[in-house]
Amino acid sequence: MKSSEIRQKFLEFFESHGHTIVASSPLVPGNDPTLLFTNAGMVQFKDVFLGQDKRPYVRATSSQRCVRAGGKHNDLENVGYTARHHTFFEMLGNFSFGDYFKRNAIRYAWEFLTQVLAIPQEKLWVTVYAEDDEAADIWLNEVGVDPTRFVRIATMDNFWQMGDTGPCGPCSEIFYDHGPDVAGGPPGSADADGDRYIEIWNLVFMQYNRDISGTLHPLPKPSVDTGMGLERISAVMQGVHSNYDIDLFQDLIKAAARETHAQDLSNNSLKVIADHIRACAFLITDGVIPGNEGRGYVLRRIIRRAIRHGYRLEQKLPFFHRLVDDLAKVMGQAYPELVDAQARVAAVLRQEEERFAETLENGMQVLEAALREQSGELAGDTVFRLYDTFGFPVDLTADIARERGVRIDYAGFESAMEDQRERARAAGKFTMQGGVEYHGASTEFYGYDSLQQEARILALYKQG
Ligand code: ATP
Ligand code: MG
Ligand code: MG
Ligand code: MG
Repeated sequence: MKSSEIRQKFLEFFESHGHTIVASSPLVPGNDPTLLFTNAGMVQFKDVFLGQDKRPYVRATSSQRCVRAGGKHNDLENVGYTARHHTFFEMLGNFSFGDYFKRNAIRYAWEFLTQVLAIPQEKLWVTVYAEDDEAADIWLNEVGVDPTRFVRIATMDNFWQMGDTGPCGPCSEIFYDHGPDVAGGPPGSADADGDRYIEIWNLVFMQYNRDISGTLHPLPKPSVDTGMGLERISAVMQGVHSNYDIDLFQDLIKAAARETHAQDLSNNSLKVIADHIRACAFLITDGVIPGNEGRGYVLRRIIRRAIRHGYRLEQKLPFFHRLVDDLAKVMGQAYPELVDAQARVAAVLRQEEERFAETLENGMQVLEAALREQSGELAGDTVFRLYDTFGFPVDLTADIARERGVRIDYAGFESAMEDQRERARAAGKFTMQGGVEYHGASTEFYGYDSLQQEARILALYKQG
């Protein structure tokens, strides 16, 4: 079953159950300046859940384009390392605004998976929040899920909240078991981080309102928000384990191989490039432009990572922008806005590629030399020099170092950055060679959240 068919079947199924089909909103959220990118289907309905926006419907369904490459949800560092994470993906969702609650949400999900898609029940695992007896009862006694594939989870993985205050509630998640050939334990076990049991669908039950003191008050009209990754359910339906083996990715991977002259289609860099062209093309379509701060800097970081993976495949000339046409062939039908923006997207990418090409080669030589000399940890001033002089975002350097099992001295990087700031302050204003402009004390360094996450992931990686 093709991905486009699954998307269609999902929307039609929920439409037949009284849901209004709502188009995907753009990746730049129109209603929330604090959110970097749209990262879930519920984002465009946030004000509806809060009761601040009224719609002519109480049930909705959508296939939402999402990016998780910064902010609270950042999967950038997972791309190329897991079979299931992308920077850009599509989230299928059904929503109830004070209408149906747990019972119907659970029944619809189970019916869609086991009847419409005919997935064998034995392949599915279900989790609920440990204290959610109501959901447990529906799953075990009404739906009849096998208790040996049912897990109560006490962590925040199964408790969702919009923010420190506001709507929140328990979740119930559905996992697919890809079989014993893949490493990883079932949900809730010590090695649940593996890729054998893959989370496909999250059902969020918005049940409480958390006040400023942290107290939970029951919502008068509880709501439902669900999200299922289209690429993950497509992998299940297409009988493959990795998302990168589904139809949506295969043509992109071949196109990336064509443009980089890579011979081996299983090369990891091709997957990363295929992931990144989706994120970059849709971000530019939705109005983001590569730049040195905020959303633009996240986009620049993703583009530079893609270019570096091309370089890793020995493609040193601009190639990335040529994948836009291939992407439009794969996704243009579902997203006509991409086709409309196609020429502009390619032009923006090309310009960014040409710009980075000027410093990439020299930067790589500096980095290679440093990696030969410095084992275990890359010195902070090397990281800073790459950032400052060669335009290497820190996460890019970290990604390359990680491939060699080398950590980055973040503290050293920070103090090199601070020294530079001091000098900049003294001089009033300063433009660094990498193109990053410093305006004395008002300078902000973006991408820090990712840095910290990266440090954590690198530490885990080093542990083995
Ligand atoms: P995981 O634990 O695998 O990182 P998650 O718990 O962060 O997933 P949710 O926030 O619950 O994901 O999002 C709902 C659904 O969206 C997930 O069940 C999954 O199918 C899909 N999804 C989430 N993140 C990604 C991603 N980076 N790439 C592809 N699909 C994703
Ligand atoms: Mg996640
Ligand atoms: Mg999860
Ligand atoms: Mg989840």
